[in-house]
Amino acid sequence: MNINLEPKAIQAAVAKLKFRTKAFVDGKFAPSASGKTYASINPANGRVIAQIAACEPEDVNRAVKIARKTFESGVWSRMKPADRKTVLLKFVELLEKNAMEIALLDSIDAGKPIFDCATIDIPDAIHCIHWHAELADKLYERTSPSGPDVVSMIVREPLGVVGMILPWNFPAQMMAWKIGPALAAGNSLVIKPAKQTSLSALRMAEIAAEAGLPAGVMNVVPGSGAVLGPALCRHMDVDMVAFTGSTSVGRDLLRYSAESNLKRIILELGGKNPQVVLADADLDNVAPHAVNSAFWNMGENCSSGSRLIVHRSVKDELLEKFIRETRKWPIGDPLNPKNRVGPLIEPSHMQTVLNYIETAKQEGGKLVLGGKRTLQKTGGNFVELTVFDEVTPSMTIAKQEIFGPVLAVIPVDSDEEAIAVANDTNYGLAASLHTRDIAKAHRFARAIRAGVVSVNSFSEGDLTTPFGGFKESGFFGRDKSSYAHEQYTELKTVWLQL
Ligand code: NAP
Ligand code: MG
Repeated sequence: MNINLEPKAIQAAVAKLKFRTKAFVDGKFAPSASGKTYASINPANGRVIAQIAACEPEDVNRAVKIARKTFESGVWSRMKPADRKTVLLKFVELLEKNAMEIALLDSIDAGKPIFDCATIDIPDAIHCIHWHAELADKLYERTSPSGPDVVSMIVREPLGVVGMILPWNFPAQMMAWKIGPALAAGNSLVIKPAKQTSLSALRMAEIAAEAGLPAGVMNVVPGSGAVLGPALCRHMDVDMVAFTGSTSVGRDLLRYSAESNLKRIILELGGKNPQVVLADADLDNVAPHAVNSAFWNMGENCSSGSRLIVHRSVKDELLEKFIRETRKWPIGDPLNPKNRVGPLIEPSHMQTVLNYIETAKQEGGKLVLGGKRTLQKTGGNFVELTVFDEVTPSMTIAKQEIFGPVLAVIPVDSDEEAIAVANDTNYGLAASLHTRDIAKAHRFARAIRAGVVSVNSFSEGDLTTPFGGFKESGFFGRDKSSYAHEQYTELKTVWLQL
């Protein structure tokens, strides 16, 4: 699938954009019960894109009721897996047809470069749904070795009503990572997209309905997380909530579950990810990966390698190559396909990032690139790509997730120190390791406490590999791969005495 990135094609597609702004429940768009709305703002210029339905607990309750009724009806949950696959493959086909539109919705809503949306987010999102659709009729169940007098079947069943709470940094892609396996497994869904980025979720739900997904299987209720989150997560008739977002909200979700029906909670949370560069690394290979790791999606990425832990003997040479490489990352209008860096999601988040930059200066970090807000005249929330050298592990920017384009370079004097510093964090989502020594590559990849360790590259793996965190980066589950499919199912034993 190729999206045409000619500026003229982009402009023509922008001119045709129509926004779905109402809640999508039971296969239909409808305003929130209260009729209230909120503005979705374009982070690149501060202008209002559209007024979105501001749902309230009443709307969540209605969506859960419909999702439950649909689930119990069996129209999707008991459909033959091969037939579920057919519907999902049709969904994939229609998503491909509308890929440019969805790419634009995410670009405009989240300030993401259209280049990224068109070449990474949307193709990956569609591929994810495709991959899980194909899996739907390829999983076998088991019998146990219980002896000749019994047939004991170990089967997997869909969980029921699954809530999903999504972040704003990869809106369509994070939705796909969750709906792909959850739909393939036969669940009914109530989705709460991030308040800033609901447009692609609403359009994707509409496209799924066009593809033949029965009404009530996929419901989307936009609105504030502080209002809808507790309603969904405390609901006694929701079986599971899958969440991607901050660690602090993740903690709240566990509490809501504990205080209600002990629903399953799956948490994909933040990271303070290390990029470890040993003295023997191929620095020409490291530099482009390191820049991508630090600055892809403006650093608004849970797997962003925001700590460059590098052997002192090669640090200056790497830094020079790194900074040269950043020149290939122009900042500006996300709809210009030449740009690789867009604005941050909203003014308050931009201010948080700028505050981290000030704190880093005060604590003795050496600013070697960027450090300021830029392109103010656009009205957008742009911050320069920023690098601090001579950071020590105790400084604030070495510890806290910034979720912006700010890299901390931490020099070290030995391999052992590098690994110790890499692991000196409460998080454990992703890491990269650069060395030419194959024994060190294996040994240290195992020593780093993170859900994904990529060697001589920055990578989150592909659809066949699970993604999720250790420590405070995650809890209970994984996105992608057949492991993701499993977590949207319940394991049952059927013991049949002969
Ligand atoms: P966030 O503030 O935690 O928001 C995530 C979602 O939770 C949003 O839909 C939000 O709604 C909702 N929410 C807010 N308060 C809630 C509550 N009390 N109960 C239930 N839901 C609530 O995080 P974010 O700022 O959107 O995203 C940034 C964070 O996500 C970073 O920490 C990042 O590392 C993490 N992240 C992790 C992964 C991963 O795969 N591990 C991927 C991407 C991002 P509103 O939009 O209405 O506030
Ligand atoms: Mg927005």
